[in-house]
Amino acid sequence: MNLSLNWSIERIRTKFEFKIARSAESYYDVVILELSDGTRTAYGEAAPSKRYESGPEAIIDLLNTNKSNILGLALEDYESRQTALEELFPNSFALQAALDTAFWDLYGRQVGRPLWDLFGGSKELVTSTYTIGISDLSVIPEKIKEAEQYPLLKIKLGTDYDHDIIRAIRAETDKVLRVDVNEGWKTLDEAKRGTEWLVTENVEFLEQPMPAGQLDDIAKLREFSPLPLVADENSVRPEDLPGLDGVYDGINIKLMKCGGLSNGLKMVKLAQKHKFDIMLGCMVETSIGISAMAQLGSFARWLDLDGNVLLAEDPYIGVGNAAGKIVLSDDPGTGVKPR
Ligand SMILES: [Mg+2]
Repeated sequence: MNLSLNWSIERIRTKFEFKIARSAESYYDVVILELSDGTRTAYGEAAPSKRYESGPEAIIDLLNTNKSNILGLALEDYESRQTALEELFPNSFALQAALDTAFWDLYGRQVGRPLWDLFGGSKELVTSTYTIGISDLSVIPEKIKEAEQYPLLKIKLGTDYDHDIIRAIRAETDKVLRVDVNEGWKTLDEAKRGTEWLVTENVEFLEQPMPAGQLDDIAKLREFSPLPLVADENSVRPEDLPGLDGVYDGINIKLMKCGGLSNGLKMVKLAQKHKFDIMLGCMVETSIGISAMAQLGSFARWLDLDGNVLLAEDPYIGVGNAAGKIVLSDDPGTGVKPR
């Protein structure tokens, strides 16, 4: 079968500046892949995170120099494909993810089945959160209003004005909050105080409260904390999971960190084995990346798949998001198409 691959950089803009404990952006450049067998076109997306790798230009260089290797990757045997992707692109998990997604998508389109079905999942998904990034306090009422239809909010903390942020949010809404500290609390003492306070604020869990390098502190925090702790920066690749036993209650899986759906599936199985609750997360991404990750959605206790709805304009159409309810289709592959 003769495959062809095209790629481009697309600039995607967020409705609001998207700020977390370590960065602030109002647009992101992502790499979009189109993989074709001559009849069907499949899609992949690389949204590289600055915490883990270099930017989209480096990905374009890798694509240019490895095109023939890429077109020779296995379409059906995803395990050997993943091994080859890791050998070809050891430093770009976002590119691994984009290619693995495009190959899965093409395979699903060829066999005429949606990926959630090929993965042994279902269309029954829990409600996803909508993220409120860090911002000036004055913008919070507008953001809460923007999120009006979403019943679950994810809040980014880890600033020196965390209390003011929660106070400003609580002035507007009493919705359940899930808090992501993005490694922002640097000492066990600070983290304990934060946890004690947030348990009184109708918070459901804490994501990555402390730096990934401080596992001993996080294990102590877990003994103290009435709130479940969920790993994100600590839960990057499948091999990270066994080391999180006794440290976290749950793990966050993101395509752009783990290297694609094949590794995502592997992390789901490992998490089940180690009895971690599963969250599926994302970067700021178009509907290509979000629709791909949503195919694993029925395995998750928590979904945080809002990257596409944070965009001012999404160039692709994929899974729906009706007030946080992600709607999977019966279309083959990921079901994505250009808008
Ligand atoms: Mg996170």
